[in-house]
Amino acid sequence: MDKDQSTELLFDLSQPGRRAARFPAIDVPTTPVDSVFGADDLAEESPPLPELAEIDVVRHFTNLSTRNMSVDTNFYPLGSCTMKYNPKRNERLASLPQFADLHPYQPDATHQGMLRLLFDLEAMIGEISGLDAVCLQPAAGAHGELTALLVAASYFRKSGQARTKVLIPDSAHGTNPSSAHLAGFDCVQVASDQRGLVDMNDLRAKIDGDVAVFMITNPNTIGLFDHQIVEIASLIHEAGGLMYLDGANMNAILGQTRPGDFGIDLMHFNPHKTFSGPHGGGGPGAGPIAVRGMLEPFLPTPRIAERDGQWRLDFDRPDSIGRVRSFFGNTGVLVRAYCYIRTHGAEGLKSVSTNAVLNANYLLSLVKDFLPVPHGDRCMHEFVASASGLHKSRGVRTMDIAKRLLDRGYHAPTVYFPLVVPEAMMIEPTETESKETLEQFADVLREIIEEPAELLQQAPHTLGISRPDEVRAARKPVLRWQAST
Ligand SMILES: *Cc1c(COP(=O)(O)O)cnc(C)c1O
Repeated sequence: MDKDQSTELLFDLSQPGRRAARFPAIDVPTTPVDSVFGADDLAEESPPLPELAEIDVVRHFTNLSTRNMSVDTNFYPLGSCTMKYNPKRNERLASLPQFADLHPYQPDATHQGMLRLLFDLEAMIGEISGLDAVCLQPAAGAHGELTALLVAASYFRKSGQARTKVLIPDSAHGTNPSSAHLAGFDCVQVASDQRGLVDMNDLRAKIDGDVAVFMITNPNTIGLFDHQIVEIASLIHEAGGLMYLDGANMNAILGQTRPGDFGIDLMHFNPHKTFSGPHGGGGPGAGPIAVRGMLEPFLPTPRIAERDGQWRLDFDRPDSIGRVRSFFGNTGVLVRAYCYIRTHGAEGLKSVSTNAVLNANYLLSLVKDFLPVPHGDRCMHEFVASASGLHKSRGVRTMDIAKRLLDRGYHAPTVYFPLVVPEAMMIEPTETESKETLEQFADVLREIIEEPAELLQQAPHTLGISRPDEVRAARKPVLRWQAST
């Protein structure tokens, strides 16, 4: 194994007595620790911390950082996740001390700039969504889903309606049923038809007076815009229900159409997808929600309010569902979203979605002849190919292709999702990739598919770790070093 692929830990590199820095001898009186703590509180031995020079530590972490795929180093066509380039300007602006060093307990009068930025961001997201009120508190898309469903539940409770069901298409992201369940609803699955759109007969059969919300993703996870949306919305509204949009795919329709205009009552955004925020390995995110006016009283507290050019936090909201996140949410990612939206402006945002859809269609046209795309010749911002034929003819699975792509320097597409396509491979290039990158990726994909099955089944061949037991890696991760005894 190459040295840079080694799994040596800092503990393994430790040399007794080695130091990054040495302090001068103490020249002031000292207090013995056991005069402060009781002897029982003190450890008998020093902890076995690694002893290293600064350069050892810097090399270790710098090398580790290069072992990840990232948008800054590799094409990353991870469908549904919209892994577009994160402009460095936004990073720099968000880390200005005037934003980054604010303390949330400062009096409102001393952080007017941040309050105004968030207030204006709410207005911009409201405009993009075509809805009336926005809350920035939720910490991720899934958290936005849950928050919006709690808002819907409060709305129905307040109007004395005991509605128990949330309808969800079978192509939906797993977070949709999870959020509905957590919010106390029963989930009812609606089938997709052969085109990959909502099956209207199945929908009609499942609508009744118990339906609270229909959760739709549009464009859906197959990358198709469901043109039945206005009809779906009127059926749900006639039955007294609300229309929720999972806004994860807003990159396809930004500035082209507005969810509020096609019948949506409440939705979430994923700024780390649509507005180029970093995805941050499970780190701080945001999932702003937008709602129609009648739902505004139920939004989380506090709301940012403005009067006579002064911004303040309004806690006086009797119908609010309460807090869903400390303070105002993860403002660092919200500042990035603000910068992104302001940088592009209305016309720029429209060209983002135009180019995202153009890139996806170009890649689709390059790929579909050797990797079938079951749901059509056109797509929105992403498409779902299927390795089901290859699986039958040569035993090559989507997972094998995904793993082999890693050897060739590409992050894998999303695999085995949506569930309605067998051996699914969901490819989303985003608008920030060049024509050359898309062509190279298509060439590599074609080469891989023609390689011997055994080569693919053992891939990746060039990385430090080949095929971990993924369930065990997720369920029982080894995150702690243990001293050998
Ligand atoms: C990413 C995604 C979500 C969840 O968003 P997070 O920000 O990851 O919590 C929900 N639905 C769809 C379709 C998604 O792609």
